[in-house]
Amino acid sequence: AKSAGGNRFELADPEADARTITRHGLTTALPTALDRGEFFIEYQPLVHLGDGSVRGAEALVRWLHPQHGVLGPDRFIPLAEHTGLIVPLGRWVLEQSVRQAREWREMCGAGRACAPLRINVNLSPCQLTDPGLVRDTVEILERAGVEPDALCLEVTESALIGADDDLLKPLRRLADMGVDIALDDFGTGYSNLANLRRLPVSILKLDRSFTRGMQQFPADPVDLKIVEGIVSLAHSLDLAVTVEGVETGAQAEQLKVLGCDTAQGWYYARPGPPERLHELTLVDATG
Ligand code: C2E
Ligand code: CA
Ligand code: CA
Ligand code: CA
Repeated sequence: AKSAGGNRFELADPEADARTITRHGLTTALPTALDRGEFFIEYQPLVHLGDGSVRGAEALVRWLHPQHGVLGPDRFIPLAEHTGLIVPLGRWVLEQSVRQAREWREMCGAGRACAPLRINVNLSPCQLTDPGLVRDTVEILERAGVEPDALCLEVTESALIGADDDLLKPLRRLADMGVDIALDDFGTGYSNLANLRRLPVSILKLDRSFTRGMQQFPADPVDLKIVEGIVSLAHSLDLAVTVEGVETGAQAEQLKVLGCDTAQGWYYARPGPPERLHELTLVDATG
């Protein structure tokens, strides 16, 4: 279509694209896409900054749309939240991911010198109000034979701002069982830092906007100060810090010096099929 030239180039605008897709039935196709088996999950490694080893992976859902090809979550998660599909979809993602974690953990036990991999799964704010969340999560872990501490649920900072006790209760129960709760996109939500103490979180996931400032060399000194401050605050509250969007070795080095614990980003690996994790951990074990 691009060779047609002229104004057609403007269709490359993602927003125009989204509108086109919406008109062409994304809204009507979504509710049944789960039954048709059109979703799949890519996994992106989480790397320990201290020794460079792969410690786990984040599950990122995609929709293989029969007409439009692979759609990223930004294209359909808001719609899934709006229609309520997010609850069964989120449960499906959790179940698949936990089973995948089980497979990885078995491979590690089978003579491989890798640390047992953990799995991070995103939780939509809509799932927090689902009364079945804790029961379903426990069931999924038990059925797969995976210990709760192999699982980390990522909840965005904005979903928890001003959250009352009712909203926090299921997270607290999961945390008490040993599931890690990570505060995703941290630093974008203007949350009161003192507020962190009342949240049942054990990990801060520093938003990509902070790592972006470290792409140029020398890095923006204000960004460095901010990250340094967040890391020391987090550590003083016994929270681990994960950074996302690490695209260069220079960024990784800088973040390591600043004391961040875990990193994720294209520098290490793009999200990919689960087999990619096998290769990465195999390299670790032999290298
Ligand atoms: P997120 O949780 O902040 O996930 C990180 C996003 O950053 C992913 O986008 C990932 O592909 C991208 N990314 C990773 N490394 C780099 C990098 O080095 N540079 C850049 N520029 N980007 C990087 P993705 O896969 O498109 O997911 C977008 C968002 O969709 C996620 O943001 C998450 O909020 C949501 N999402 C994904 N899967 C699920 C799911 O199963 N359930 C729910 N509720 N939300 C999901
Ligand atoms: Ca996330
Ligand atoms: Ca734990
Ligand atoms: Ca994030």
